[in-house]
Amino acid sequence: MKKAEQKSPAPGRGKVMPDKSIKREVMFHGIPASPGIAMGQVLVLGKENSLLDAPPEQKKIPPEEVESEIARFKDALEETRTETKALMARIKESEGRNDAGIFDAQFLILDDKMLLNEVVSGVSKKFQSAENAFRQTISKYIAAISAIQDPYLKERAADIRDVAERLLAHLQGRSRTDLLKNLHEPRIVVAKDLTPSDTALLDRKNVLAFATESGSKTSHSAILARSIRIPAIVSMNRFYERLEDGDYLIVDGFLGTAVLNPDKGTIELYRQKEKSEARLYDEYLRETQLKSETVDGYRVELAANVENAENLEDIIKFGAAGIGLFRTEYLYMNRTSCPTEEEQFQVYKKVAKNLEGRPAIIRTLDLGGDKLSSLIHTQHEQNPFLGQRAIRLCLAHPDLLKTQMRAILRAGVFGKLRMMFPMVSGVRELDELLRILGEVKADLQNSNQRFDGSMEIGIMIEIPSAALAAEHLAEKVDFFSIGTNDLVQYTLAVDRNNEQVATLYEPTHPAVLSLIAMTVHAANRHGIWVGVCGESGGDPLCIPLLVGLGVKELSMSPMSIGQSRRLIRKISMREAEHLAASALAAGDGGEALAMSRKYIEEKFPVILRER
Ligand code: PEP
Ligand code: MG
Repeated sequence: MKKAEQKSPAPGRGKVMPDKSIKREVMFHGIPASPGIAMGQVLVLGKENSLLDAPPEQKKIPPEEVESEIARFKDALEETRTETKALMARIKESEGRNDAGIFDAQFLILDDKMLLNEVVSGVSKKFQSAENAFRQTISKYIAAISAIQDPYLKERAADIRDVAERLLAHLQGRSRTDLLKNLHEPRIVVAKDLTPSDTALLDRKNVLAFATESGSKTSHSAILARSIRIPAIVSMNRFYERLEDGDYLIVDGFLGTAVLNPDKGTIELYRQKEKSEARLYDEYLRETQLKSETVDGYRVELAANVENAENLEDIIKFGAAGIGLFRTEYLYMNRTSCPTEEEQFQVYKKVAKNLEGRPAIIRTLDLGGDKLSSLIHTQHEQNPFLGQRAIRLCLAHPDLLKTQMRAILRAGVFGKLRMMFPMVSGVRELDELLRILGEVKADLQNSNQRFDGSMEIGIMIEIPSAALAAEHLAEKVDFFSIGTNDLVQYTLAVDRNNEQVATLYEPTHPAVLSLIAMTVHAANRHGIWVGVCGESGGDPLCIPLLVGLGVKELSMSPMSIGQSRRLIRKISMREAEHLAASALAAGDGGEALAMSRKYIEEKFPVILRER
């Protein structure tokens, strides 16, 4: 399915030799990660030419620019330091390598006072540009280390080259971070991989789409792409090495295909597809006042998942009942210090106010797993998804959690906020969280601060043990929200980001459905409600099953709300319950999926074609 296919060239009459200037159309297949069509030139990240070996410029800077040139160099140093910290964390987590050696050498360079003085003197005395002064200085260092006959030091020379290239890229505004943040022209970004923090940086105005060789539908980069409405494809096999900067590409985020060098006919075909998608989108916008209710009158709340407080008006535009999941960890990414209480308070207050009375669930920090931040230094972990993630990290750093709790509670005065804890595995952890929450409330009270003392508190059910302990947990909270992205990965032992086991990642697996059924049952017995905020919540093939299992709220990317509303209005609760019961008794996820597909084909076949 993911193999690269090659279209045969059109037969040309009388042609003896193939004309190399004619670029052939090639189609690639991957996993659709975020819907939409994009066409344009690509920017391939990670294939940049060496800046260190570029010929030195002869141009001198005018004396009045000396100060700003030195400041520019110091900024680039700082940016490279932050980037190096993030890189170190990323390599540690994703590859399990502890390459302290590499980074020690790099930090030595970045913190070297002699090097800084030499660059400053090159700029201020010889009127060299910061690039030239740095290039000259660092080249001397590299030459000196390389001359020593020691294999270890030879390797360190390569590490210093690496950090020097990155520093020069920052100086010229061409680092990966700069490229993602400040694209000057619309481009489709192609990369081997994009981390969630890379994706958070994407300049939405100019990034038309992204396509990566790694990743899966539930990886956080894919989730973020849906949230910021950038078409995306992941897991594009043998793709990256075939593309060059400036190539023309079509990305079809509905089907997970990309066409390199499309001919006129293909471009026209995709233009038509784009138009019909736009028509559908308009239709959905006209239906936002319709109730999201089954034909037999069972109401399902449709809420939005968001990663920041930037496009809150969209939530109302798409007719969401509120925010079912605010992933606050993005507030901690791509920065040099943790967000303060005041800064967070302003963000949550904006959410509370802008939703005009609709509720918003603010989830406390879920860093760890694939969402890393260089701000919080954790030990190297062999299995980060099973390690110190989310509340585990917060309980190890209670001040971090307390700051966030204070900000959420205070912002609650301005609207209807709910607080939710991710990755709760059982009662002991929940008791500890509630104890800390009690302390925070008492502090706020004692210091006469205004806060929402009766804020609803909920937990995510995303670890099988939490579903199994739901009866006990339900006694202590106001709602449950099922995180199917993690519940599927932890129940089936399938890494949600690993494309090699993607076929085993089955949200309709009867084992997963049973855990959801148990959760709903426990919640009903204790009079609390259950939502789903994982990606299954917006997946048409899962919606009838979730409704049939008794879930009351589905939270999804705002873009999926229109389609989900239409689907819910076509199904009946009686039939959905019947479908869910059959799926629970199925032998495997494929069988349950086939049942759901058959039901949708009867009720609303067009939705499957839209996918
Ligand atoms: C989930 O696990 O389903 C979820 C919504 O949380 P996240 O995707 O942020 O892990
Ligand atoms: Mg989760």
